[in-house]
Amino acid sequence: MNISFEVRPGANRYVSGENVLQELPQYLTNFTQVAVITGPTSFKIFAAYYNTELAYPLFYYDGSASNEDAARLAQEIGTAEVIIGIGGGRVLDTSKLVAEILGCKLVAVPTLISNCAPYTPIAAVYHPDHTFKDIQYFQDAPFLTLVDYRFLLATPVEYLIAGIGDTVAKWYEIEGITRRLSADTKNAGVRLGIASAKEIKNILLADSLAALAALKEQTVTPAFGRIADTVIALAGTVGGFAVNFGRTAGAHATHNGLSYLPATHEIFHGAKVAYGVLVQLSYTGDYDEIAQLLPFYHAVGLPTSVTQLNLGAFDAETLAPVAQLAADPTDYFNLIDPAVTGEKVLQAIEKLETFIAKN
Ligand SMILES: [Zn+2]
Repeated sequence: MNISFEVRPGANRYVSGENVLQELPQYLTNFTQVAVITGPTSFKIFAAYYNTELAYPLFYYDGSASNEDAARLAQEIGTAEVIIGIGGGRVLDTSKLVAEILGCKLVAVPTLISNCAPYTPIAAVYHPDHTFKDIQYFQDAPFLTLVDYRFLLATPVEYLIAGIGDTVAKWYEIEGITRRLSADTKNAGVRLGIASAKEIKNILLADSLAALAALKEQTVTPAFGRIADTVIALAGTVGGFAVNFGRTAGAHATHNGLSYLPATHEIFHGAKVAYGVLVQLSYTGDYDEIAQLLPFYHAVGLPTSVTQLNLGAFDAETLAPVAQLAADPTDYFNLIDPAVTGEKVLQAIEKLETFIAKN
């Protein structure tokens, strides 16, 4: 048994639409012991929108998304039949850890559109000092994920841009991983993951600009709804069905390498991943694809050069450790090329920067 290789389609119940949060009490009628896990900022945003008071005990996470904080929260809560997690990715991942400890259900209420944490039975777990620890897998997916489009107009624009960047990587990473595989290696689940990733890319390319415009105007539109569902739910189906063929590859490995440089720390995860998509495409020599993506990146506001990642002009010496880390055997650039080396990744970055400067 290996839970990380199991097909996990997504949330038990996924409900999205305008004003669906008002239906929250209807989903809770069968439960008597309910606890809320949230963060101060998330809860302020929620309370301003929700209007009615939530008559359940409230517990604040410590910002870390760590096993230690989850253990503390579980002890404070004692027993619960259901946890309502209200917040961004780290609040929801903390809520998953607590629900697993308490053996109870989880209702995920995202406060922003930026990742698939509200949908998946997986968490990105950190140490108490906020450094990354590992990815953890849970027995149960969220019992209910409530995606209220009107409420999600509270998403800060830069979070949605980053969410789009992180989600566009789904197609490029799964395509890069699976392009050399034989037909028989791509089982039914992997094929569905590839199909899902392709539709994700189609929706992102068609609707991202309209969704960003809707967010700036604070209006719910069909495009805004499609982007919300794509970033939160569809993104989770790629790894959910294709398993290790549908998770991270060269784009995220580049992100992980870039994160080594403190100058990139204030750049969002999804923005660094989006640049990593271009690096991976440069590595595989897919410059036609890069050329097609550039207008989209420019329009959405995703970075296309190291300068936009706070790193100044291309400098081989600065970027060598980034490339080295991206190519490390413990990371996943090797799913794109088993013979990957730091030198080859550095060359890919240099070629990309030259190409971008000319286009
Ligand atoms: Zn990511």
